[in-house]
Amino acid sequence: MWVSAILAAGGRGARMGAQVPKQLLELGGRTILQRSFDTLEQMDAIAEVIVALPGDLAANPPAFLTSSRKEVRIVDGGDRRQDSVANAFNKVTTARADRVLIHDAARPFATPNLFHRVIESSRQHNAVTAGLRPTDTVKQVHGRQPGAEIPLVSRTLPRESLYLIQTPQIFLTRHLGDAIALARGSADATDEATDEATLLERAGFPVAVVDGEPTNIKITTEQDMRVAEALIGQAGPVPPPLSLLPRIGIGYDLHRLEPGRRFILGGIEIKHQTGLIGHSDADVLCHALTDAILGAAAMGDIGRHFPDTDPAWKDADSIQLLRHAVRLVRDAGFVVVNLDAVIIAELPKLAPHVDTIRHHLADKIGVDVRAISLKGKTNEKVGELGRNEAVAVHAVALLAVAPERSFA
Ligand code: MG
Repeated sequence: MWVSAILAAGGRGARMGAQVPKQLLELGGRTILQRSFDTLEQMDAIAEVIVALPGDLAANPPAFLTSSRKEVRIVDGGDRRQDSVANAFNKVTTARADRVLIHDAARPFATPNLFHRVIESSRQHNAVTAGLRPTDTVKQVHGRQPGAEIPLVSRTLPRESLYLIQTPQIFLTRHLGDAIALARGSADATDEATDEATLLERAGFPVAVVDGEPTNIKITTEQDMRVAEALIGQAGPVPPPLSLLPRIGIGYDLHRLEPGRRFILGGIEIKHQTGLIGHSDADVLCHALTDAILGAAAMGDIGRHFPDTDPAWKDADSIQLLRHAVRLVRDAGFVVVNLDAVIIAELPKLAPHVDTIRHHLADKIGVDVRAISLKGKTNEKVGELGRNEAVAVHAVALLAVAPERSFA
């Protein structure tokens, strides 16, 4: 599923009475907007984020939006919420997006778990919103008694049939497009929908509700800000956003040994009576390191990027795969801090080759040789590895946010 996310932050927060737009108010060291964005940014299920901002902010957006490792587009919000969302929808990669998720920037406490549940639920339902069952008794009021300030209750609503609706909400891209077009065609331009599920309902699409989160509050008033500060206080010290923390990845690979093949390890050919077999050059070390690097960035694995069904990688030089993985994570904003690997091979003896391989790898992937560690191990003649039938490698990679990103 390819999901495009719209972060609705077009409002000016007139109800807040603050000098700055409410989405730029700080909560525990990050603005409300950044908190909402950081959660979207860390969701692998979300391929791109379109952020609708007030015009002045869209013209001069905060650095965390422009330096994100996700695909981010910024649009000028409109007068009404649905205008903001319509502007953002125009920037959705509709040719690729099966679904569009919409979230209010003013709900900075929606957890990744909630996003995950809403997205997963959209596999069964074309339109899904988060919502909470009210725990309070809900009453409808009508006019006032003559001369009185406060309203009168007309009836008590059945609580079991009510939900208080939150975001995130997710829709099939074409349904949302239809609903937006229908709303745009509506004669009443003052008619403001307070969420997108309403537009879908008006267009006749059924909308499902999954349980939201009580802490997923919408920060609209000064009072909400106090509640938000209290929520953060309870959560204890604020951890640095995921995007600033180092990342570790693990890789493993095994290739069988056979006579008549070349024995290539870390791009270096080692003279030996048997060699490693596989679709590519079977460089078991490069493969494990590639997986460790991709794994640290949560960017999939070697099979996803270099499928062995693809003739382009047949007999490929695996150093090129490793270099490509380093480029991919670099494009995502990471640098390789260090690599460590254990190579399990009964024969050949690896010790004489370890430093040659380390220097070769360092040179090929642009990492200091002191950051690359390789250890040869035998398997004490136990099992397939011990019988010299295969070579296996365990590898770890540590990545850090590239320095030019961490000050964004
Ligand atoms: Mg392999």
